[in-house]
Parts: sequence; structure tokens; C-alpha cells
Amino acid sequence: MREFGYQRASDVAGAVALLGADPDARFLGGGTNLVDLMKSGVERPARLVDIRQLPLDDIESTPGGGLRIGATVTNGDLAAHPEVRRRYPALAQAVLAGASGQLCNMATVGGNLLQRTRCGYFIDVTQPCNKRVPGSGCPAVEGEHRNHAILGASEHCVAVHPSDMAVALSAFDAVVHFETADGAGELPLPDFYLPMGESPHRETALPTGALITGISLPPAQVAASSRYRKVRDRASYAFAIGSVAAALDVRDGIVREARLALGAVASRPWRAVVAERVLTGAPAGPKTYAAAADAELAAARPLPHNAYKVTLVRNLVVAVLTELAEEAAR
Ligand SMILES: Cc1cc2nc3c(=O)[nH]c(=O)nc-3n(C[C@H](O)[C@H](O)[C@H](O)COP(=O)(O)OP(=O)(O)OC[C@H]3O[C@@H](n4cnc5c(N)ncnc54)[C@H](O)[C@@H]3O)c2cc1C
Ligand code: SF4
Repeated sequence: MREFGYQRASDVAGAVALLGADPDARFLGGGTNLVDLMKSGVERPARLVDIRQLPLDDIESTPGGGLRIGATVTNGDLAAHPEVRRRYPALAQAVLAGASGQLCNMATVGGNLLQRTRCGYFIDVTQPCNKRVPGSGCPAVEGEHRNHAILGASEHCVAVHPSDMAVALSAFDAVVHFETADGAGELPLPDFYLPMGESPHRETALPTGALITGISLPPAQVAASSRYRKVRDRASYAFAIGSVAAALDVRDGIVREARLALGAVASRPWRAVVAERVLTGAPAGPKTYAAAADAELAAARPLPHNAYKVTLVRNLVVAVLTELAEEAAR
């Protein structure tokens, strides 16, 4: 492991300035991903700027019923917050479905958004990997890709984004707020994560050196009737092989509004806009849910060992929407 310096930032401007002073520096949130990557040699920062003391650890209500979540709120505090559980239950469920209690108590919201892929070739520095070393190749395409992408992948990289939290945030139109030396900025989640394309090493549109300061969730009544369901190889402590965040408003047997996002299928949380269009205004029921899932998954381009994900995600979408509709009818 490379020797590194450590500094603790006490205000946002100071944190941005410290990072800007050293192109080899990284922000340190909970360290649950960054420190692992430093140990394996994937990340080799010269300096860590610890942001855990910044005053960004609040969750506040916004006018109209939305929420503003600070970047250093821990995953544990996010999942336990009564307004998160009441207004956006799928978000709390998604966070609880990820990692262990100990990790959730360390990990922060900003770090969760920026955690790196768990592709085995990416974390093994003896292997080529376009994401880690641009232009070196993608051995996963011909090799081990059982957990990899079925949507939006490119020949240059087929890795998936590992975050559960980001899938739920995507369903609720979250906006990421950040601070740079030039001032504050914001990016809606669909613009925050870049499509895979030819440059898999570029994962987000966050400007270089930007500090994520928080996330805002716009008010959404439908979000109160939402659910996150994750499928994984073992019951706990494992990343998703497929997941769904869904919200549904059914009245008089008709779907009035639907939100749907898929996880572990693409390099970023996959907002299922095609399925949402099929659902909206259609009669509620398994036929509609299956048609919506099929319409979304028509774009799937699975590899030989991950084609199972197409069926898995289809069944997951139908099951979760059915449960939400049944719950609302009670
Ligand atoms: C064993 C294990 C199992 C896990 N299982 C799951 C799972 O099932 N689902 C899941 O979603 N996650 C899972 N995780 C991942 C975990 O959720 C992430 O490691 C965690 O969310 C990262 O947050 P952190 O604050 O520790 O980030 P860090 O490790 O501190 O940082 C991650 C990256 O974000 C940058 N960063 C951090 N904060 C900011 C900020 N405010 N602004 C700009 N850059 C920032 C850092 O520089 C770094 O590049 C697991 C992790 C482990 C170790
Ligand atoms: S899938 Fe992406 S992360 Fe994995 S080896 Fe290929 S380029 Fe690297």
C-alpha cells in the first residue's frame, strides 16, 4: 500500500481547497470502499481528506414534502430516519438490503453513490481492465460475467454499479448537489452517472475535485407506496444479482402512476422509463406488469452466463408490482 497523508476538513470550502491542492488526493467518507481499494492497489491516493466532520450530516424536510439528505449522513441513519421510512420506504429498504449493520454505520451517502464496481477483474490489479487501466481490455466479456450487465453495456465494459441505495434514489428522481472551487452545482441522477460508452473509467459527470454535499428528493406522493426487492446469492452480506425499486399508485383498477428502477443490470441504476410508460394508464394486474417488464427488457443484450438475469428481473418486477397493488387494495 502506498504511503499517504491524512487531513481532516472542518468546512466545505476547506475540503474542496484541500482536494484541489493535490491532484492525487481523495475524499474519505466512511472509507468502506476506498480503503479496501487502497489495500488491493486499485486506488493509490497520496492524501486522504477526511470529510466526516463536515456539517453535512442532517436530513431535512423540504417544502412540499421532499427531503434533503446530507452527504455524510451514514447509511444506517438514513435507513432509520422516520421521514425516509414514511415518505420513501423503498429507499430505507434498499439501504438495509446492502452490506452489514457495521458497514452501514460507517458508510456515507456520498461514498455510497461513488462506490466502485465489484467486477473481479477490476479489483485484481494483475488483470487487464478498461475501467482501471483505459485501453487494456475487458476480460469479463469472454470470461467471468455471471453478475454483469444485461442493459446499456458496451464492448469496452460490462460491469454493473453495486449500489442498492442509488437504485431507489433513481426511482424517486434524486438530484445530487456538489461544491467545487467555482461554486455549487447539481446533477439529476440520470445525468450524474455516465453511460458506459467507450470510456468506462469515467463513471460520473461530477467535475474533478467536486465534493458531494447532499442529495435532494423531490416530493412524490406515490413514493409512500414503494418497495425495494433484492435478489442475491446468499441471504445477507452480498451484492445484488438483480433488484427492483418500485412505487405504484392504482385507483379504480387503473395504474395512475408508476416508478420503476432496476439494479445490478447496468453500469448505473437503470430507470425503467419504457416500462413506466406501458404501466401508466393501463389496467392494474400481472399481465400489464409482465408486458411492462418485457418492453423494458427488450433492450437487454445478455452475455452467455448472465442471460438468467432477464427472467429473474422480469419475475421480480411482476412480483413487486403485484404486491404493491395488493397492499394498496387492502
Ligand atoms: C463487505 C461489503 C459488502 C457490501 N455490500 C453492499 C451491498 O450489498 N449493497 C451496497 O449498496 N453496498 C454494499 N457495500 C458497499 C458500501 O455500501 C460502500 O462501501 C459504501 O456505501 C461506501 O461509502 P463510504 O462512505 O464508506 O465511501 P468511501 O469508501 O469513503 O468512498 C468511496 C468513494 O467516494 C468518494 N467520496 C466519498 N464521499 C464523497 C463526497 N461527499 N464527495 C465526493 N466524493 C466522495 C471517495 O473519495 C471514494 O472515491 C458493501 C461493502 C462491503 C465492504
Ligand atoms: S467489465 Fe468493466 S470493470 Fe470488469 S473487467 Fe471489463 S472493463 Fe473492467
